[in-house]
Amino acid sequence: MTHQHATGWGNFSSCICPTCRTTSVPSRREFLGTSAAGAIAASTAMIGTTRAQQPAPGALSGRPLLIKDGCVLTLDRVIGNFEQADVLIERGKISAVRPNIAVADAEVIDATRMIVVPGFVDTHRHMWQGILRNVLPDGSLDDYIATVQKIFGANYTPDDVYAGDYFSALGAIDSGVTCILDWSHIHNTPEHTDAAIKALMDSGARAVFAYGNAQTADGRWWEAKGSKYPDDIARLRKQYFTSEDQLVTLYMAAPSGAPEQILPTFKAARDVGARITIHVGVGERGRAALLEKLNAANALKSDTTYIHCCTLNDTEWKLIRDTGGTISIAGYVETLMGHGSPPIQKAIDMGIRPSLSVDVETSVPNDFFAQMRTVFSLQKKDVWDRRLAGDKNPPKFLTVREVLEFATIEGARANGLERKIGTLTPGKDADVILLRTDRLNVMPMNNAVGAVVTSMGPQNVDTVLIAGKIRKRNGQLIGVDFDRLARLGNEARDRLYASAKVKNTRI
Ligand SMILES: [Zn+2]
Repeated sequence: MTHQHATGWGNFSSCICPTCRTTSVPSRREFLGTSAAGAIAASTAMIGTTRAQQPAPGALSGRPLLIKDGCVLTLDRVIGNFEQADVLIERGKISAVRPNIAVADAEVIDATRMIVVPGFVDTHRHMWQGILRNVLPDGSLDDYIATVQKIFGANYTPDDVYAGDYFSALGAIDSGVTCILDWSHIHNTPEHTDAAIKALMDSGARAVFAYGNAQTADGRWWEAKGSKYPDDIARLRKQYFTSEDQLVTLYMAAPSGAPEQILPTFKAARDVGARITIHVGVGERGRAALLEKLNAANALKSDTTYIHCCTLNDTEWKLIRDTGGTISIAGYVETLMGHGSPPIQKAIDMGIRPSLSVDVETSVPNDFFAQMRTVFSLQKKDVWDRRLAGDKNPPKFLTVREVLEFATIEGARANGLERKIGTLTPGKDADVILLRTDRLNVMPMNNAVGAVVTSMGPQNVDTVLIAGKIRKRNGQLIGVDFDRLARLGNEARDRLYASAKVKNTRI
């Protein structure tokens, strides 16, 4: 049988390119045999090839893209927002935002009845758990550590990491999250690390890979035999992250625990110029004044993002502010699993604008609409409670505009990317989402920012661009074969349950 294979297809003896995949399916050996990378290549081959089927419009043509006649919320305080305007994108960057742009050879995206906003930016998600969605809907933080980390995590293969990260990344794109920090603590071997990075790079998402520790059955990650954490970050810098001008960039995910375990990871990060992210102020164990101890070793700098911060003391908050750190609030999970109250008002009182994060898809919806509404309602509840209790000088209520900034530009800042993304400012990379207003959850439209923050959901995400490439259009991800994707996820999940000796009842 002679035919033209789609670009990027390997030389399988049983061809599975889109032209003939319905008639032949490769064996696992054939997948594995195509690359020395072995097991990882199996899943990569499946996905890499499916992505080649439908080139993203505008991604390959090199023509300018013109988003026409949308309600444009640039969130840039100088440029302002527009009831109706156009966004011109050239070579992956925003080159102009104003009404009535005319470009002769541009590919036009009609944004009538759309709100055009910067893509959402998640600053903390454990993406390897993308194949463990909803496993722990009723669990506490202790349950999570016992089940997700010590049982499942300790049994992850590199293939499982690939599938988890890939699913999490595609889910993020699908719901309008264009940039996501992968807080990746599944590095049981360097092959696990390579698989995570490969999945992020294959997904098309803008991602920050935050390199973290291994998972083990007893939680003693520092004794994991195959782990090269944290020193392997030097290899990662050389092998994958030689440029900051790429879609996936490098952070260190520092462990929580004793300062003598944390400090070497800070040093390894700074030795290779990687920023740092760390969980602090989590539940009772977050009351140990850790940041005071790290500060005593001069370890706190502006290159660090502090996650949760629910139970920090006032001195620690001042240390974050005075050293220029950023913070990430995962409001939904914090209320759900016992971290402590999300410190939204505390951060505002300290003059620190928080970023937002999903954290764990094992218990939390993967979209940012839920995150925005969580912090919005919690802060208002806090203020109302104080007013009802007779507080004569309560804080101001958050506005929807501020919350939208938390979800975009503040996320960009915490991910070290505020010069590139977070607002629709000419010169920045074109990470843009188009949200439909002709849906029954928001029509007829009266207030654009209000609609996005209080009423919309992933069903409103019509189009997603990352660095000018269209990753979702007309409500559909581009270049994703759902049958094959489902097979990848189901196989990884079943393999993982079997190796972890967990029975999956699915109910
Ligand atoms: Zn976390």
